[in-house]
Amino acid sequence: MIVLKTSRELSIMRKAGKISQTALRLAGEAVEPGVSAWEIDKIARNYIESMGAIPSFLNYDGFPASTCISVNNVVIHGIPKKSVILKKGDIVGIDVGACYQGFHGDNAWTFPCGEISAEAQALLEATEQSLFLGIQQARPGNRLGDIGHAVQEYVEARSYSVVREFSGHGVGAKLHEDPSVPNYGTPGRGVRLTAGMVIAIEPMINQGRKEIQVLDDGWTVVTKDGSLSAHFEHTVAITPEGPVILTLPE
Ligand code: MG
Repeated sequence: MIVLKTSRELSIMRKAGKISQTALRLAGEAVEPGVSAWEIDKIARNYIESMGAIPSFLNYDGFPASTCISVNNVVIHGIPKKSVILKKGDIVGIDVGACYQGFHGDNAWTFPCGEISAEAQALLEATEQSLFLGIQQARPGNRLGDIGHAVQEYVEARSYSVVREFSGHGVGAKLHEDPSVPNYGTPGRGVRLTAGMVIAIEPMINQGRKEIQVLDDGWTVVTKDGSLSAHFEHTVAITPEGPVILTLPE
């Protein structure tokens, strides 16, 4: 069931989005060679809690941290451990959400650790661009397939692939609500978008093939072929005026 948000709820979700965005920015600023994923997680958690919010991911289905930190061939859901030490040339996906006054914000970005290869940089740029192309389709009257198609068409034209097993999602009083928002699709197909819907759009794009596997820890999702993967996400409100990104900087 898709829960539409009232204007009062949307104003709370803007605050949750800002907190999520600042936590992500602070975490991203800490990305440098020699820093552990665990240290970055603490920065995000401390900020969220200092704002009177709750890290959305902490204890979600038993997840042990406040952020997912997914390095190189890790697609999503990397656990930020002390043993994960960032190196120059890594690409570091950070996904973080905050729950403020009962409503969630959710966002992710993939950061370069120092200087990265031209190939890695191209993957990051294409994935970021695909996110914004998807967001442009998030307007009343369009359908979910328009979003997925915009993402898929752009990245596949550059020989990248779209992960199928994980998708974006509705966001609200629950971190993950209906509908599921795939990063692939057919224009004009799927659920019709209406004002009041809030969705997280989050392309997960692999440099190589689309297949993934989940490691034995039950969380970490990696590319099956070992290629790099990038992940960018915003929480977006669908309004009569078009898409409004709730997780943008001030
Ligand atoms: Mg999400």
